[in-house]
Amino acid sequence: MDKLYLVVPCYNEEEVLPETARRLAAKFDNLIAGGKISPESKVVFVDDGSKDRTWEIIEGLNESSPLFQGIKLSRNKGHQNALLAGLMAVKDECDMTISMDADLQDDIDAIDRMLEKYYDGCDVVYGVRSERKTDSAFKRTTAHGFYKIMKLLGADIIYNHADYRLMSRRALDALSEFREVNLFLRGIVPLVGFKSDTVEYKRTERFAGQSKYPLKKMISFALNGITSFSIKPIRMITLLGILIFSVSILMLVYFLIRHFSGNTVQGWTTLAASVWAIGGLQLLAIGVVGEYIGKMYMETKARPKYVIEKYLK
Ligand code: UDP
Ligand code: MG
Repeated sequence: MDKLYLVVPCYNEEEVLPETARRLAAKFDNLIAGGKISPESKVVFVDDGSKDRTWEIIEGLNESSPLFQGIKLSRNKGHQNALLAGLMAVKDECDMTISMDADLQDDIDAIDRMLEKYYDGCDVVYGVRSERKTDSAFKRTTAHGFYKIMKLLGADIIYNHADYRLMSRRALDALSEFREVNLFLRGIVPLVGFKSDTVEYKRTERFAGQSKYPLKKMISFALNGITSFSIKPIRMITLLGILIFSVSILMLVYFLIRHFSGNTVQGWTTLAASVWAIGGLQLLAIGVVGEYIGKMYMETKARPKYVIEKYLK
């Protein structure tokens, strides 16, 4: 039986933590009794610089049972970083991890199905929301728009998958090779590769406390997702430049016709033509510079060029 480490980022979650811990302990007892995971499996809470009693609660849990571990970040670094910190801290101890939110909005019974897929040979199992009735209409529309835009910009993210996912140890090892600072997990994990599958679950209501993702954080999360993944916005500038420059040539023809048919004001032709031509050329030039910046940007990420899955000797 393999060792499972469940990683739970927590930010100001004093209201939900005791209940979450209770439910998770029951779940783990069940899984261990059923022979699905090793008795040495753990639940690891990562305190993302909470300002309430979250860390005291985690300390208490850690003392009360060997099942619970705690990691405390020195300050609030956001959900993605807290999650990554947890995953990287435990990766050498475990055979696989599952990441999940502290509010148990993600159905913990999906863990059983994730484990089945893992034992079937998957290195990554994505939890996918089959419906989001409990989210507000606003959250649903913005989330939907976000997935759409990400797809359009070329980031291969899984639709309706948040960060509820199982990752094997070797998938985590591969993930640790991605050294970029702005790590957008939902986009990177598919890049890691390996055999993967999805598991559907119903997302429920947060059972206590408030969402820790206000609109401000959602916007910065989405912007970070796009800009840390895609240089397509730069390419759009280049395309726009080419487009406007082409239009300027057509306009020039039109301006000349007007000029020679004599019904224009003196000087208008040159002025109008140059505004378009120069505008187009400038955009094009910015785009070209941008292409090089885009290259440098991808280079500085120093992403691994490949991940070896098997080596038969
Ligand atoms: N979280 C975190 N750091 C933050 C914000 C959130 O670690 O700066 C955690 C939070 O404690 C929870 C998870 O990220 O476990 C998801 O947050 P939340 O449930 O508030 O988001 P929502 O479900 O509303 O999208
Ligand atoms: Mg939540």
